[in-house]
Amino acid sequence: MGDGSGAAPGPATAADPLAGIDLAAAAATAGAWLEISVAADHEAVEAVSEILSRAAPGGTSVEPAFELVEDGLAARVDLARPAIVRAHLPILDPAVIRAAVARADRDLGHLQAFGMRPIGDLTAAIVLEADWANAWKAHFPVLRIGRRIVIRPTWRRHRRQPDDIVLALDPGMAFGTGLHPTTRLCLAALESLGDRALVDHGGADGAPARVLDVGSGSGILSIAAAKLGAREVLAVDVDPIAVEASRANARRNRLSRVIRAREGSAPSGEGPFDVVLANLIASLLITLADGMVTDLRPGGTLIASGIFLTREAGVVEGFGARGLVLVNRWEEGDWVAMEMRRPPS
Ligand code: SAH
Repeated sequence: MGDGSGAAPGPATAADPLAGIDLAAAAATAGAWLEISVAADHEAVEAVSEILSRAAPGGTSVEPAFELVEDGLAARVDLARPAIVRAHLPILDPAVIRAAVARADRDLGHLQAFGMRPIGDLTAAIVLEADWANAWKAHFPVLRIGRRIVIRPTWRRHRRQPDDIVLALDPGMAFGTGLHPTTRLCLAALESLGDRALVDHGGADGAPARVLDVGSGSGILSIAAAKLGAREVLAVDVDPIAVEASRANARRNRLSRVIRAREGSAPSGEGPFDVVLANLIASLLITLADGMVTDLRPGGTLIASGIFLTREAGVVEGFGARGLVLVNRWEEGDWVAMEMRRPPS
């Protein structure tokens, strides 16, 4: 993957992405938008999306490289090939567009200089709304993650297998579409807890688990936990947009009665929980460790993800200092998720 397959690193003197585009003419055309896009290694997708979203108030879409399998009913994401991150800018004032594109181009250059994975050049094109309003949906397939968890974009159909846990998601937001390896690892860990009846019978008395999802984002982990049989899920996030997304996605899955989303973090003050889920980054996991352990009942399970391989020992140590014991780990690429247990008191 380090060979930059396909996504050539942009040379420092990359051409102006707007060269040859007549913004003034486009501004006078009804339904014309500027589409900007970048090919990015999947590890760089989040950072690239963030940069493009600063230019595009409507947000970005991420189109993973995938191949259709099972007669086109399912898809397999190809993580070795770059994903395409796209954003659409309304063309009102050409000068504003030029400034936004120049800034995105510069920020992408900085990201490249940070030694991130390969990022392609920023490219731009005028597109007509009628063409892309629905066309982008073709880029989001139904995704199977692990053995039984299936992410179904809301407009797609899925022929369910008897064991399938199907999450209906609107991947308007980049994070939590199941694309990012840290989310996939967390779902794999959750599936494994499910297989061991630690969700549907995860309570101290064998009752369905109470689950806390710290940094819920799109709510994907909360929905998976609820579908695996949790009794109650509290989804907290410091970002109000994430809280709204978690709530909307819970509703979409008819889980509003099980999942409650609100602004917050750990400790939530609403413990004890039987299971705590946290897909954050290593430093934040360590900072929040005290709060999360406070929220976790003795004998309860914590799933921590978002951990770069090089930070694994530090995270194990951080939670170890608070009495937690590592019982399982899952790895994908440079990322690790772990399952830790708080010893029974
Ligand atoms: N759980 C989702 C999203 C993970 S992204 C998934 O697995 O895909 C991490 C989320 O943590 C973001 O939505 C971010 O807003 C949130 N976050 C960042 N700092 C936080 C904090 N201190 N407490 C709670 N949430 C936080």
